[in-house]
Amino acid sequence: MQLFIHRNDLRVRDNIGLFRAGAAEPVIPVYIRDPRRASLIGPEKTAFRDRGLQKLQERYREHGSDLIVREGKTAAILSSIAQEHDISGIAYNRHYAPSERHIEQEIDKSRFNATAYDDRVLVPPRWFENDHDTFSPFYRRWKEKEKQDAVGVPSQLADISAPDVEKSQESTIDLPDAGEEAARDRWTAFKAGALYEYKEQRDDVADPDAVSRLSPYYSNGMIGIRTIYHEVQTCIQQENDDNAIRNIAKYRSELAWREFFYQVLYHHPESVENNYKSFEREIAWENDADLFEAWKEGRTGIPFVDAGMRELNETGYMHNRTRQNVASFLTKHLMIDWRKGRDYFRKKLIDHDVASNTGGWQWAASTGTDSVPIRIFNPIKQGKRYDPEAEYIKRWVPELSGLDPNQIHEWPQLEEEQRKALAESYPAPIIKYQKRYHEGKQMFEQALGR
Ligand SMILES: Cc1cc2nc3c(=O)[nH]c(=O)nc-3n(C[C@H](O)[C@H](O)[C@H](O)COP(=O)(O)OP(=O)(O)OC[C@H]3O[C@@H](n4cnc5c(N)ncnc54)[C@H](O)[C@@H]3O)c2cc1C
Repeated sequence: MQLFIHRNDLRVRDNIGLFRAGAAEPVIPVYIRDPRRASLIGPEKTAFRDRGLQKLQERYREHGSDLIVREGKTAAILSSIAQEHDISGIAYNRHYAPSERHIEQEIDKSRFNATAYDDRVLVPPRWFENDHDTFSPFYRRWKEKEKQDAVGVPSQLADISAPDVEKSQESTIDLPDAGEEAARDRWTAFKAGALYEYKEQRDDVADPDAVSRLSPYYSNGMIGIRTIYHEVQTCIQQENDDNAIRNIAKYRSELAWREFFYQVLYHHPESVENNYKSFEREIAWENDADLFEAWKEGRTGIPFVDAGMRELNETGYMHNRTRQNVASFLTKHLMIDWRKGRDYFRKKLIDHDVASNTGGWQWAASTGTDSVPIRIFNPIKQGKRYDPEAEYIKRWVPELSGLDPNQIHEWPQLEEEQRKALAESYPAPIIKYQKRYHEGKQMFEQALGR
């Protein structure tokens, strides 16, 4: 029998490693709660993953099999399972994260015949002859590359039974439904409408359905990336309206952003910790602890930033537009090291993905792959542009719900007296906005040796 080790691929359908392992022999599915991984994701993502494991077990039971979940170091668990079952080989899907590399090496070195598959991305990073340090050339090459077809349920699953999966973590926030079926439902709803307006509407931060919100499912592998890609391609091929095609194609390019960051991570694993770009001098981060606390709690007195941070704290998700703004604000205006922000996101996001989180942080901090040398988002202008009626801000910052949109967006520029009269419980800006803009810019210019 074959053993298939699930990691961030919690699904039965369109799972390359599982499908191949089950082609010739019955396959036993296993998930190992390796303690070395525990500190790398936050409690909410752990709780979401646990629910995903329970759903996965249900799926296996529907197919007459089961999911074995064990806790311990990977090598030890593999040996103990091998004593219970006759194992001829092991299969797993490549993870690409440097933190998983030693676990993969442990599997490869075990006495079983181990085979690794590419499942997580459409175009494996090693298929690129050169690495690309900006998105546009990468995307051109990515589009030309062949993509694997989606696969179904493996033909042979072992007739085993296992104890019910227990939760290792309770959630303190409302989580979306986990598992393959929930992911499929989410995709079906998005594909039925918003996909056709995605390019035009995706930055409307007030509309939660303008984006797919599939990231928690991609991150935990609850839906196969090939399934989505080929359905996107079919939508494009069947569409006659050029504008609709442009909207759908934008979604495809966002999937490629995800793969771009995997490619960066694969070729530059050190970028998980180090600045991707080289600087002439060290960046003189100030790392003020009080400013960092205020940012984390969403009480900076910059409404668009606070709305994003509170959305994160209360849901484990944040809209991409606000992710960019809060990250830029932390690094440029508060002059706090991007690694601190990245770690906070890692603890809070249910869609945490090491490639996209590191890549997104480095991009927004101007230490990464952005082609603009120093990009500083203006969260006041961004709020006005992407949340003109301040609906998103009011949803997450209820202290401001009685104000009109202009007063909300102009909050940092109002007089102290006015602010007190309008919303006493909401903080004044924790920094002098214009002054810090110049100081932040200077900090980067000095590091760049200008
Ligand atoms: C500082 C920062 C940190 C981030 N951390 C993460 C993270 O840990 N995990 C994560 O999945 N995404 C991360 N992103 C990327 C992006 O914000 C999210 O993927 C997106 O908001 C998820 O929402 P959605 O599924 O509705 O996206 P949609 O707009 O519906 O996009 C569809 C999918 O495309 C991919 N995608 C879209 N935008 C990006 C992008 N900029 N970079 C990479 N992939 C993208 C995601 O897989 C996403 O689910 C980060 C971005 C920034 C700026």
